[in-house]
Amino acid sequence: GTVVAIQANFSSVQLDASNATAQPDSGSLKLLCVRRGLLKKLGQQVMVGDRVEVEQPDWQDRRGAIATILPRKTALDRPPVANVDQILLVFALAEPTLDPNQLTRFLVKAESTGIPIQLCLNKQDLISDQQAKHWQHRLADWGYRPTFVSLRQDSPQVDALTAQLQGRISVVAGPSGVGKSSLINRLIPAQTLRVGAVSGKLGRGRHTTRHVELFELPQGGFLADTPGFNQPDIQCSPEALGDCFPEIRQRLADQSCQFSNCLHRDEPGCVVRGDWERYDYYLTLLDEVLAQQQTLDEQR
Ligand code: GDP
Ligand code: ZN
Repeated sequence: GTVVAIQANFSSVQLDASNATAQPDSGSLKLLCVRRGLLKKLGQQVMVGDRVEVEQPDWQDRRGAIATILPRKTALDRPPVANVDQILLVFALAEPTLDPNQLTRFLVKAESTGIPIQLCLNKQDLISDQQAKHWQHRLADWGYRPTFVSLRQDSPQVDALTAQLQGRISVVAGPSGVGKSSLINRLIPAQTLRVGAVSGKLGRGRHTTRHVELFELPQGGFLADTPGFNQPDIQCSPEALGDCFPEIRQRLADQSCQFSNCLHRDEPGCVVRGDWERYDYYLTLLDEVLAQQQTLDEQR
Protein backbone atom coordinates (compact mmCIF):
# COMPACT_ATOMS: atom_id res chain seq x y z
CA GLY A 1 0.00 0.00 0.00
CA THR A 2 0.85 3.68 0.12
CA VAL A 3 1.49 5.70 3.26
CA VAL A 4 -1.03 8.55 3.17
CA ALA A 5 -0.35 10.21 6.52
CA ILE A 6 1.97 9.96 9.50
CA GLN A 7 1.47 11.07 13.02
CA ALA A 8 3.67 10.19 15.95
CA ASN A 9 4.57 6.50 15.54
CA PHE A 10 1.62 5.63 13.36
CA SER A 11 1.38 5.51 9.59
CA SER A 12 -1.92 5.41 7.83
CA VAL A 13 -1.55 3.01 4.91
CA GLN A 14 -3.98 2.90 2.01
CA LEU A 15 -3.75 -0.67 0.72
CA ASP A 16 -3.80 -1.27 -3.01
CA ALA A 17 -7.19 -2.31 -4.36
CA SER A 18 -5.70 -5.71 -5.21
CA ASN A 19 -5.80 -6.48 -1.48
CA ALA A 20 -9.58 -6.20 -1.41
CA THR A 21 -10.06 -9.97 -1.47
CA ALA A 22 -7.82 -10.43 1.57
CA GLN A 23 -10.12 -8.70 4.00
CA PRO A 24 -13.22 -10.42 5.33
CA ASP A 25 -15.66 -7.49 5.19
CA SER A 26 -16.02 -4.76 2.60
CA GLY A 27 -14.65 -2.02 4.85
CA SER A 28 -11.98 0.51 4.10
CA LEU A 29 -8.60 -0.66 2.89
CA LYS A 30 -6.87 1.80 5.18
CA LEU A 31 -4.87 0.43 8.10
CA LEU A 32 -3.16 2.22 10.94
CA CYS A 33 0.33 0.78 11.11
CA VAL A 34 3.37 0.73 13.36
CA ARG A 35 6.86 -0.05 12.07
CA ARG A 36 8.18 -3.55 12.55
CA GLY A 37 11.06 -3.78 15.00
CA LEU A 38 13.61 -4.48 12.30
CA LEU A 39 12.84 -1.23 10.47
CA LYS A 40 13.29 0.64 13.72
CA LYS A 41 16.57 -1.11 14.37
CA LEU A 42 17.75 -0.18 10.88
CA GLY A 43 16.69 3.41 11.55
CA GLN A 44 14.44 3.42 8.49
CA GLN A 45 11.92 6.22 8.71
CA VAL A 46 8.60 6.12 6.92
CA MET A 47 7.63 9.03 4.65
CA VAL A 48 4.21 9.98 3.35
CA GLY A 49 4.09 8.61 -0.20
CA ASP A 50 6.17 5.55 0.66
CA ARG A 51 5.20 2.27 -0.91
CA VAL A 52 5.21 -0.34 1.86
CA GLU A 53 4.50 -3.96 2.61
CA VAL A 54 2.15 -4.53 5.51
CA GLU A 55 2.07 -7.61 7.73
CA GLN A 56 -0.31 -8.95 10.34
CA PRO A 57 -3.39 -7.05 9.23
CA ASP A 58 -6.03 -6.88 11.95
CA TRP A 59 -9.14 -6.20 9.88
CA GLN A 60 -11.36 -5.71 12.90
CA ASP A 61 -9.30 -2.95 14.48
CA ARG A 62 -7.86 -1.80 11.16
CA ARG A 63 -4.29 -2.15 12.37
CA GLY A 64 -1.16 -3.56 10.85
CA ALA A 65 2.62 -3.43 10.82
CA ILE A 66 4.93 -2.07 8.13
CA ALA A 67 7.49 -4.76 7.35
CA THR A 68 9.23 -3.25 4.31
CA ILE A 69 9.67 0.18 2.75
CA LEU A 70 10.20 -0.14 -0.99
CA PRO A 71 12.94 1.95 -2.64
CA ARG A 72 11.88 5.56 -3.24
CA LYS A 73 11.73 6.97 -6.77
CA THR A 74 11.99 10.52 -5.42
CA ALA A 75 11.92 12.21 -2.03
CA LEU A 76 10.80 15.80 -1.63
CA ASP A 77 12.18 17.58 1.36
CA ARG A 78 9.65 20.32 1.95
CA PRO A 79 6.97 19.08 2.09
CA PRO A 80 8.33 15.64 3.01
CA VAL A 81 6.68 13.36 0.45
CA ALA A 82 8.19 10.32 -1.26
CA ASN A 83 7.52 9.10 -4.80
CA VAL A 84 5.98 12.34 -6.04
CA ASP A 85 5.33 11.95 -9.77
CA GLN A 86 4.52 15.57 -10.50
CA ILE A 87 4.03 18.99 -9.01
CA LEU A 88 0.68 20.50 -9.88
CA LEU A 89 1.35 24.21 -9.89
CA VAL A 90 -1.87 26.22 -9.70
CA PHE A 91 -2.10 29.90 -10.58
CA ALA A 92 -5.06 32.17 -11.30
CA LEU A 93 -5.36 34.08 -14.58
CA ALA A 94 -7.00 36.94 -12.65
CA GLU A 95 -7.98 37.81 -9.08
CA PRO A 96 -5.17 37.83 -8.11
CA THR A 97 -3.57 39.21 -11.30
CA LEU A 98 -1.19 36.72 -12.88
CA ASP A 99 2.25 38.08 -12.07
CA PRO A 100 4.91 36.63 -14.41
CA ASN A 101 7.63 37.30 -11.86
CA GLN A 102 5.85 35.38 -9.10
CA LEU A 103 4.94 32.60 -11.54
CA THR A 104 8.59 32.32 -12.53
CA ARG A 105 9.64 31.98 -8.89
CA PHE A 106 7.21 29.13 -8.32
CA LEU A 107 8.19 27.46 -11.58
CA VAL A 108 11.90 27.68 -10.79
CA LYS A 109 11.36 26.39 -7.27
CA ALA A 110 9.39 23.45 -8.67
CA GLU A 111 11.96 22.84 -11.45
CA SER A 112 14.75 22.78 -8.86
CA THR A 113 13.28 19.58 -7.38
CA GLY A 114 13.76 17.79 -10.71
CA ILE A 115 10.17 16.53 -10.56
CA PRO A 116 7.94 17.07 -13.63
CA ILE A 117 5.55 20.03 -13.49
CA GLN A 118 1.93 20.35 -14.56
CA LEU A 119 0.85 23.96 -14.76
CA CYS A 120 -2.82 24.70 -14.20
CA LEU A 121 -4.20 28.19 -14.83
CA ASN A 122 -7.51 28.71 -13.07
CA LYS A 123 -10.31 31.31 -13.25
CA GLN A 124 -10.51 31.29 -17.02
CA ASP A 125 -14.05 32.62 -16.62
CA LEU A 126 -12.61 35.97 -15.56
CA ILE A 127 -10.61 36.64 -18.73
CA SER A 128 -11.37 36.98 -22.44
CA ASP A 129 -10.43 34.37 -25.04
CA GLN A 130 -7.90 36.84 -26.36
CA GLN A 131 -6.20 37.15 -22.98
CA ALA A 132 -6.16 33.36 -22.65
CA LYS A 133 -4.46 33.12 -26.06
CA HIS A 134 -1.93 35.71 -24.95
CA TRP A 135 -0.94 33.61 -21.92
CA GLN A 136 -0.94 30.42 -23.92
CA HIS A 137 1.58 31.84 -26.41
CA ARG A 138 3.64 33.58 -23.79
CA LEU A 139 3.95 30.44 -21.67
CA ALA A 140 4.74 28.36 -24.73
CA ASP A 141 7.73 30.66 -25.21
CA TRP A 142 8.73 29.88 -21.65
CA GLY A 143 8.48 26.17 -22.44
CA TYR A 144 5.19 25.32 -20.72
CA ARG A 145 1.82 24.06 -21.89
CA PRO A 146 -0.65 24.95 -19.15
CA THR A 147 -4.12 23.52 -18.69
CA PHE A 148 -6.66 26.35 -18.55
CA VAL A 149 -9.57 25.68 -16.21
CA SER A 150 -12.38 27.36 -14.40
CA LEU A 151 -13.22 25.61 -11.18
CA ARG A 152 -16.35 27.75 -10.97
CA GLN A 153 -17.74 26.05 -14.05
CA ASP A 154 -18.13 22.56 -15.42
CA SER A 155 -15.45 22.91 -18.02
CA PRO A 156 -14.21 19.91 -19.99
CA GLN A 157 -10.68 21.02 -19.15
CA VAL A 158 -11.22 19.86 -15.59
CA ASP A 159 -11.51 16.37 -17.07
CA ALA A 160 -8.18 16.89 -18.82
CA LEU A 161 -6.70 17.81 -15.47
CA THR A 162 -8.24 14.73 -13.86
CA ALA A 163 -6.61 12.60 -16.54
CA GLN A 164 -3.21 14.16 -15.82
CA LEU A 165 -3.55 13.24 -12.15
CA GLN A 166 -4.82 9.69 -12.58
CA GLY A 167 -2.63 6.98 -11.10
CA ARG A 168 0.02 9.44 -9.95
CA ILE A 169 1.10 11.13 -6.74
CA SER A 170 0.81 14.89 -7.24
CA VAL A 171 1.71 17.71 -4.91
CA VAL A 172 -0.43 20.84 -5.21
CA ALA A 173 1.48 24.11 -5.02
CA GLY A 174 0.74 27.75 -5.68
CA PRO A 175 0.08 31.07 -3.95
CA SER A 176 -3.05 31.58 -1.87
CA GLY A 177 -6.30 32.65 -3.45
CA VAL A 178 -5.72 30.92 -6.78
CA GLY A 179 -8.15 28.04 -6.20
CA LYS A 180 -6.13 25.20 -4.67
CA SER A 181 -8.82 24.39 -2.10
CA SER A 182 -11.50 24.64 -4.78
CA LEU A 183 -9.51 22.17 -6.85
CA ILE A 184 -9.11 19.70 -4.01
CA ASN A 185 -12.79 19.98 -3.12
CA ARG A 186 -13.69 19.40 -6.74
CA LEU A 187 -11.51 16.33 -7.23
CA ILE A 188 -11.72 14.58 -3.87
CA PRO A 189 -15.10 13.34 -2.60
CA ALA A 190 -16.29 15.22 0.49
CA GLN A 191 -16.40 11.95 2.41
CA THR A 192 -12.67 11.36 1.89
CA LEU A 193 -11.80 14.91 2.87
CA ARG A 194 -14.00 14.87 5.96
CA VAL A 195 -12.72 11.61 7.32
CA GLY A 196 -9.16 12.24 6.25
CA ALA A 197 -6.49 9.73 7.01
CA VAL A 198 -5.52 11.37 10.25
CA SER A 199 -8.50 13.22 11.59
CA GLY A 200 -10.37 10.28 13.07
CA LYS A 201 -8.20 7.75 14.81
CA LEU A 202 -5.07 9.80 15.12
CA GLY A 203 -6.74 12.78 16.70
CA ARG A 204 -6.45 16.23 15.23
CA GLY A 205 -8.03 17.24 11.93
CA ARG A 206 -6.36 18.40 8.77
CA HIS A 207 -7.00 22.07 9.34
CA THR A 208 -5.32 22.25 12.71
CA THR A 209 -2.07 20.46 11.97
CA ARG A 210 0.77 21.20 9.62
CA HIS A 211 1.22 17.64 8.47
CA VAL A 212 1.19 16.37 4.91
CA GLU A 213 -1.64 14.14 3.87
CA LEU A 214 -2.35 12.28 0.65
CA PHE A 215 -5.95 12.10 -0.54
CA GLU A 216 -6.92 9.26 -2.82
CA LEU A 217 -8.44 10.30 -6.13
CA PRO A 218 -11.57 8.41 -7.22
CA GLN A 219 -9.82 7.44 -10.48
CA GLY A 220 -6.69 6.25 -8.64
CA GLY A 221 -3.67 8.25 -7.64
CA PHE A 222 -3.16 10.70 -4.79
CA LEU A 223 -3.16 14.45 -4.23
CA ALA A 224 -0.98 15.90 -1.49
CA ASP A 225 -2.71 18.66 0.34
CA THR A 226 0.08 20.50 2.02
CA PRO A 227 0.72 23.86 3.55
CA GLY A 228 4.36 23.59 2.45
CA PHE A 229 5.81 24.59 -0.87
CA ASN A 230 4.08 27.94 -0.81
CA GLN A 231 7.14 30.06 -0.08
CA PRO A 232 9.13 30.09 -3.27
CA ASP A 233 12.55 30.47 -1.68
CA ILE A 234 14.83 29.03 -4.30
CA GLN A 235 17.56 26.78 -3.08
CA CYS A 236 19.89 25.63 -5.76
CA SER A 237 23.47 26.22 -6.77
CA PRO A 238 24.22 29.06 -9.22
CA GLU A 239 25.45 26.45 -11.70
CA ALA A 240 22.15 24.54 -11.50
CA LEU A 241 19.86 27.57 -11.87
CA GLY A 242 20.00 27.49 -15.67
CA ASP A 243 18.56 23.96 -15.65
CA CYS A 244 15.44 25.36 -14.02
CA PHE A 245 14.59 27.40 -17.14
CA PRO A 246 13.27 25.41 -20.13
CA GLU A 247 14.43 28.25 -22.40
CA ILE A 248 18.03 27.70 -21.25
CA ARG A 249 17.78 23.92 -21.40
CA GLN A 250 16.54 24.29 -24.97
CA ARG A 251 19.41 26.57 -26.01
CA LEU A 252 22.03 24.35 -24.40
CA ALA A 253 20.57 21.27 -26.09
CA ASP A 254 21.37 22.78 -29.48
CA GLN A 255 24.72 24.47 -28.77
CA SER A 256 27.12 25.14 -25.89
CA CYS A 257 28.64 28.16 -24.21
CA GLN A 258 32.37 28.67 -24.59
CA PHE A 259 32.93 27.95 -20.89
CA SER A 260 31.35 24.84 -19.40
CA ASN A 261 30.79 26.62 -16.07
CA CYS A 262 29.21 29.66 -17.76
CA LEU A 263 26.67 31.46 -15.56
CA HIS A 264 25.29 33.24 -18.65
CA ARG A 265 25.96 36.76 -17.38
CA ASP A 266 28.77 38.48 -19.26
CA GLU A 267 31.05 35.60 -20.15
CA PRO A 268 32.37 35.60 -23.73
CA GLY A 269 30.91 33.00 -26.08
CA CYS A 270 27.66 32.62 -24.10
CA VAL A 271 24.77 31.22 -26.16
CA VAL A 272 22.15 31.80 -23.45
CA ARG A 273 22.45 35.52 -22.90
CA GLY A 274 20.13 37.45 -25.13
CA ASP A 275 16.74 38.53 -26.13
CA TRP A 276 14.24 36.30 -24.39
CA GLU A 277 11.50 37.35 -22.01
CA ARG A 278 12.63 35.78 -18.77
CA TYR A 279 16.35 36.45 -19.12
CA ASP A 280 16.12 39.34 -16.64
CA TYR A 281 14.31 37.10 -14.14
CA TYR A 282 17.11 34.61 -14.56
CA LEU A 283 19.69 37.28 -13.73
CA THR A 284 17.73 38.42 -10.66
CA LEU A 285 17.44 34.86 -9.34
CA LEU A 286 21.10 34.23 -10.15
CA ASP A 287 22.05 37.19 -7.93
CA GLU A 288 19.91 35.69 -5.18
CA VAL A 289 21.45 32.23 -5.30
CA LEU A 290 24.95 33.71 -5.59
CA ALA A 291 24.29 35.76 -2.44
CA GLN A 292 22.98 32.63 -0.69
CA GLN A 293 26.09 30.74 -1.64
CA GLN A 294 28.30 33.52 -0.36
CA THR A 295 26.50 33.48 2.99
CA LEU A 296 26.98 29.71 3.18
CA ASP A 297 30.67 30.03 2.31
CA GLU A 298 31.17 32.64 5.03
CA GLN A 299 29.50 30.39 7.59
CA ARG A 300 31.92 27.57 6.78
P1 GDP B 1 -6.67 28.79 -2.37
O1 GDP B 1 -6.29 29.86 -1.41
O2 GDP B 1 -5.62 28.62 -3.44
O3 GDP B 1 -7.01 27.49 -1.73
O4 GDP B 1 -7.96 29.31 -3.17
P2 GDP B 1 -9.51 28.99 -2.94
O5 GDP B 1 -9.85 27.66 -3.50
O6 GDP B 1 -9.85 29.23 -1.51
O7 GDP B 1 -10.19 30.10 -3.87
C1 GDP B 1 -10.02 31.47 -3.64
C2 GDP B 1 -11.24 32.20 -4.19
O8 GDP B 1 -11.31 32.08 -5.61
C3 GDP B 1 -12.56 31.64 -3.65
O9 GDP B 1 -13.42 32.72 -3.39
C4 GDP B 1 -13.07 30.80 -4.81
O10 GDP B 1 -14.48 30.72 -4.82
C5 GDP B 1 -12.58 31.59 -6.01
N1 GDP B 1 -12.42 30.75 -7.20
C6 GDP B 1 -11.88 29.51 -7.28
N2 GDP B 1 -11.90 29.05 -8.54
C7 GDP B 1 -12.46 30.03 -9.29
C8 GDP B 1 -12.76 30.15 -10.70
O11 GDP B 1 -12.50 29.27 -11.53
N3 GDP B 1 -13.34 31.33 -11.10
C9 GDP B 1 -13.61 32.34 -10.22
N4 GDP B 1 -14.17 33.45 -10.70
N5 GDP B 1 -13.35 32.23 -8.90
C10 GDP B 1 -12.78 31.11 -8.44
ZN1 ZN C 1 26.39 30.98 -21.07
